[in-house]
Amino acid sequence: MELRRGITVTQTSNTTNPLRKWAAMLAAASFALPLAVQAATLEDVRVWAGPDATRVVFDLDSAAKHNLFMLENPARVVIDVEQTQRKQSVPASQDGRGAVKRVRSGNRGDHDLRLVLDLAGESRAKSFILKPQGKYGHRLVVDVEPLAAARTTTAAATLSTPSEPVALGYKPIVIAIDAGHGGEDSGARGPSGVLEKHVALQIARRLAKLVDNKPGMKAVLVRDGDYYVGLRTRIAKAREAQADLFISIHADAFTDRRVHGSSIYVLSERGASSEHARTLAKRENESDLIGGVRLDDKDDILASVLIDISQTAALEASFDVGARMLSQMGSINKLHKKAVQQAGFAVLKAPDIPSVLVETAFISNRDEERRLKDPGYQQRMAQQLMRGIEGYFEDYRPRTTVAGAAPRQHTVSRGDTLSQIAQRYRTSMRTIRDFNGLASDSIRVGDVIQIPPT
Ligand SMILES: [Zn+2]
Repeated sequence: MELRRGITVTQTSNTTNPLRKWAAMLAAASFALPLAVQAATLEDVRVWAGPDATRVVFDLDSAAKHNLFMLENPARVVIDVEQTQRKQSVPASQDGRGAVKRVRSGNRGDHDLRLVLDLAGESRAKSFILKPQGKYGHRLVVDVEPLAAARTTTAAATLSTPSEPVALGYKPIVIAIDAGHGGEDSGARGPSGVLEKHVALQIARRLAKLVDNKPGMKAVLVRDGDYYVGLRTRIAKAREAQADLFISIHADAFTDRRVHGSSIYVLSERGASSEHARTLAKRENESDLIGGVRLDDKDDILASVLIDISQTAALEASFDVGARMLSQMGSINKLHKKAVQQAGFAVLKAPDIPSVLVETAFISNRDEERRLKDPGYQQRMAQQLMRGIEGYFEDYRPRTTVAGAAPRQHTVSRGDTLSQIAQRYRTSMRTIRDFNGLASDSIRVGDVIQIPPT
């Protein structure tokens, strides 16, 4: 009936009443394109600023096509979204963050919405669509990456400065500390609203400070703010920083609010140690869908890294350091499980770095939620984790960081190559390069090369 009335109006649409005209056009459109995309509404806008990129997320109540392009002078990103209008509660202009100074939106023509991001400087932008996931509906995501910062290594961006200079030529023990979730991905939510992503970052920062205060150790915060980092990118950052240990910090959750306690997980690619471990890993692995990872990130960054690690020494080391941390945590909190647990966590899949995932406590438990947000408890948790780390590295030191032994020296004579020297001292060229801060493999007669102790 509606449709038929629409046709009638269309046929007499040269009316001067704009409302009627508008109704007529709508009706005509729905008649001409019976399968046309339904009009979407922009419901919310969020901006997350990370060290490499700023992410702007537009919530839409249904799927919509969009087209992105850049304009200069002043630099801005323009996104035209088809068949979409802005909900009244969304401001036409709002402050941005990071690389995005402002986010504006306005109607374009009768049906489309134009979104404009005013940029802080020259940048590149990419957009992608996320399908409904968890609490979110359809999302249009725009990542803005400043060009100047585009190739700043992430490690350098987040590397905290060690409090003491490390002995010349020695690579410090690098601990990659990964605060779970972030940005769009809040992780679990406590009964009173405490978010896992916040407590994870707070504990991670406290642990990083303790690590940096320890001579010969250096912390790298994989995430140091409220933004999302893809799971594989987290591993890539740890490898880029040549981490000797990777610790991912989380808070657990369960439907039964009585469940409580701390636990430690290491990777398993052959099943999980319990049903809870399995569902937990599944939930943690959904982070990329919630936090939003571009397809190209998934494709190339770590394709080469994701090999079967179940047999490697890294897994044994993970168990070792995990057990030490667990026993330390046991003195400040009940343990959920008394042994290190295993499940298929994507973030633990670095083939060459011992990696553990710490579920500090159950945020779904009222009592533990309250403790997780308490700075004193956070600090004690960080201290216990640090004790586990220290114990591990007292027994097992990466070769390049042996403290007591003095390095040997080799004076380069005619015909020597770095490869021969490495062979002679039963070490690798890379170790020698790193140890001596050499940018290339070229050496000259008379050069004195320090050979790291083995
Ligand atoms: Zn988590």
